[in-house]
Amino acid sequence: MKSFNMIKRRRSMEQQNKPKQIILPVLPLPEQVIFPNMTRPLHVVRERSVKALKYAIEHNSEIMMITMKQVADNPDMDDFYEVGTVGRVLQSLDPKDGSIKVFVSGILRAKVIEILRDGDFTRALLEVISEKAEKDVETQALMNNVVSTLREYVSSTRKLPPETMEEIEEILSQGDPILLADTVARYLSPPVVDYREQQAILDMLDLKERLEKIIEVIKYQIQIFGIEKEIDGRIQEQVAKQQKEFYLNERIKAIQKELGRDAQGMAEIDDLKKKILEAKMTKEAEEKSLRELERLEQMPPMSAESGVIRNYIDWLISMPWDITTETKLNIEEAEKILEEDHYGLEKPKERILEYLAVLKLVQKIKGPILCFVGPPGVGKTSLAKSIARATGRNFVRVSLGGVRDEAEIRGHRRTYIGSMPGRVIQGLKKAKSKNPLFLLDEVDKMSMDFRGDPSAALLEVLDPEQNHTFNDHYLDVDFDLSEVLFITTANYLNAIPPPLRDRMEVLELPGYTEYEKQKIAELFLIPKQLKANGLTTELLSISKSAVSSIINLYTREAGVRNLEREIASICRKVAKRVVKADQETPKKLHATAKNIHDYLGISRFTHGKGEVEDQIGVATGLAYTEMGGDVLAIEVTTMDGNGSLVLTGKLGDVMQESAKAALSYIRSRTKELSLIDIPSEFYSKHDIHVHIPEGAVPKDGPSAGITVATAMVSAFTGLPVRKDIAMTGEITLRGRVLPIGGLKEKVLAALRADITNIIIPRENEKDLSEIPLEIRKKLSFHLVDNMDKVIELALKR
Ligand code: ADP
Repeated sequence: MKSFNMIKRRRSMEQQNKPKQIILPVLPLPEQVIFPNMTRPLHVVRERSVKALKYAIEHNSEIMMITMKQVADNPDMDDFYEVGTVGRVLQSLDPKDGSIKVFVSGILRAKVIEILRDGDFTRALLEVISEKAEKDVETQALMNNVVSTLREYVSSTRKLPPETMEEIEEILSQGDPILLADTVARYLSPPVVDYREQQAILDMLDLKERLEKIIEVIKYQIQIFGIEKEIDGRIQEQVAKQQKEFYLNERIKAIQKELGRDAQGMAEIDDLKKKILEAKMTKEAEEKSLRELERLEQMPPMSAESGVIRNYIDWLISMPWDITTETKLNIEEAEKILEEDHYGLEKPKERILEYLAVLKLVQKIKGPILCFVGPPGVGKTSLAKSIARATGRNFVRVSLGGVRDEAEIRGHRRTYIGSMPGRVIQGLKKAKSKNPLFLLDEVDKMSMDFRGDPSAALLEVLDPEQNHTFNDHYLDVDFDLSEVLFITTANYLNAIPPPLRDRMEVLELPGYTEYEKQKIAELFLIPKQLKANGLTTELLSISKSAVSSIINLYTREAGVRNLEREIASICRKVAKRVVKADQETPKKLHATAKNIHDYLGISRFTHGKGEVEDQIGVATGLAYTEMGGDVLAIEVTTMDGNGSLVLTGKLGDVMQESAKAALSYIRSRTKELSLIDIPSEFYSKHDIHVHIPEGAVPKDGPSAGITVATAMVSAFTGLPVRKDIAMTGEITLRGRVLPIGGLKEKVLAALRADITNIIIPRENEKDLSEIPLEIRKKLSFHLVDNMDKVIELALKR
């Protein structure tokens, strides 16, 4: 001991028992405290400390672990706290790098008397403090307090794992206050509790004071935690607003990303918004679409519902809310355009010009709607197109054929899957302006069923009083139709629902004569098709005879649609030949009646012909079909029987009734008709069969009445019917002959069938003026009021 450099210290040594003093190697602890009853792994690198530990290990001696007040290489008395812990090295490991790893265990407190710094490592003269627990009530109370305070600390701060309490409660139940104090103190370690606080606990030699100190330290920690929380709360509150916003924004982004709407999706929304604002919608429509856009934004982009909304918004955007074309109304120019595009049609053209003139004067589209009535291919659509051109309006055509549901006009409500706006709104979108010429095709082909009456909806569309706020069920906002110029077309006037017909100014386009067709082909169709097929008159000529053949043998129509089609087909064939020939100057081709079958194949039709000779029981009638007019032979035969009437040839109700009326008339008149000589018992002994070929083609209408009657009289009397005569007219029971429709078509058909005489009702006399003069000249017309006259004219005696 004499060789040690001793640093004396004045210390109170008023312990009662003679304190035990020993010298032990010192392990200085930087910034940590080791308590008795505690084991801890240490990795020691300081050379003097390593040496001290190695000495202890080698000599199997205890070691004094003292916390340093400040770190020093060769600390002296002032660098150490006064109280430390004597411990043992339980395990050691030499990593051979000058350091050492040890597992130390604290045993008991000791007080430093002197620090001995000479030699390879620091040693200390110590006074070991042997403690003995006094088990009084106060100690017990303090112990309880320590445990409950620690419990509070654990549960409120969660800075120690809850299992800690199990160990502590166990110690409490053992009733060892020293062990309890040391164990709890050990847990109050850095970084939560400062090592100086721990040292202060270690320093407390009085057990009760120590327990109190522990309670104080824990309570302090709890308090600190409370304050921390409060400060945290306050700070959070301060930044809450910005942070909340930031957080929510981030969250929305995250959610939308999760849902698959990325930046692109957001850009799409922005884009839609821009388009909505640019569409110049009505206020109502704009508000509605912005509302829907908001809904869209909150929806997963791939969902069915969002598709529906997007579709709806697209519809609203694409409507021509504020687009009008500049309209012009120069009557001379309109006339020029109509003439340019159409041959003939004098009356319709005239009426159209009158209509436009009124429009010009009134400025507003009010009054009746034009309705072009006529068979297909007579130029209804093409006239409407010319009107559009002449008035500077966009043209749009919507077919109403087969419409039987109000919703097809007015749209389906959006709640239906796959719902769409009605045809009117669809048409306007196509028109790309809100003042187009809107052609409603085939208004006569609409039908009505339980789903509502489409014609009622159409009435609203056409009514200038109502149509400025037309409400399509799908769009669900009003659209102004008041600037639209509506024109309608129909094949049959009678098939147009009466309320609609009331609104319309009807223009009939009855079909063309062969001469007119010739002219149309020559002036319009051939040049048009040559151009469309890249040909010129140097490459192809279609002769008049060829056109005539096409008209009579390849088409059967009132209009010129098929004629145009056949001409187009010739042009295509020629175009192919020209290209194939591949010559510098291809040879010009001529289509004539003789070679027309080379282009179009064998002829498709033979027109109804008149009879070759006068026949008994057969009369030639004239019919009006969708293709125009035609002639038909009506056959009557009698056989033994009991007076029943058989009707065949797919006759409609009206035609059957008309045949019955004809028979009743003849029976009732048998006596009076001096012309015919039929025995009165004839009817009870014979069956009568009326047949109208061609049997498979449905026929209807009353206009065959007089023809049936004539054929019957011929059959009953055996008098032949003149072969060169054809007839048309409705018959009443008293034998009156009533007027019929489609006279022009019928007359044209008669001419084609080489008929020279035509019997027509007198009341149709006024219609004769519609028939071109060159046709009228070729025929003799016989106007009749009653059946007696018909028989007189038709039967040969
Ligand atoms: P619709 O609408 O009556 O069925 P379109 O207007 O479609 O008939 O006419 C069919 C074709 O016949 C069109 O190419 C049209 O230009 C032509 N056409 C019809 N009538 C005439 C005419 N009078 N003059 C010139 N071309 C005509």
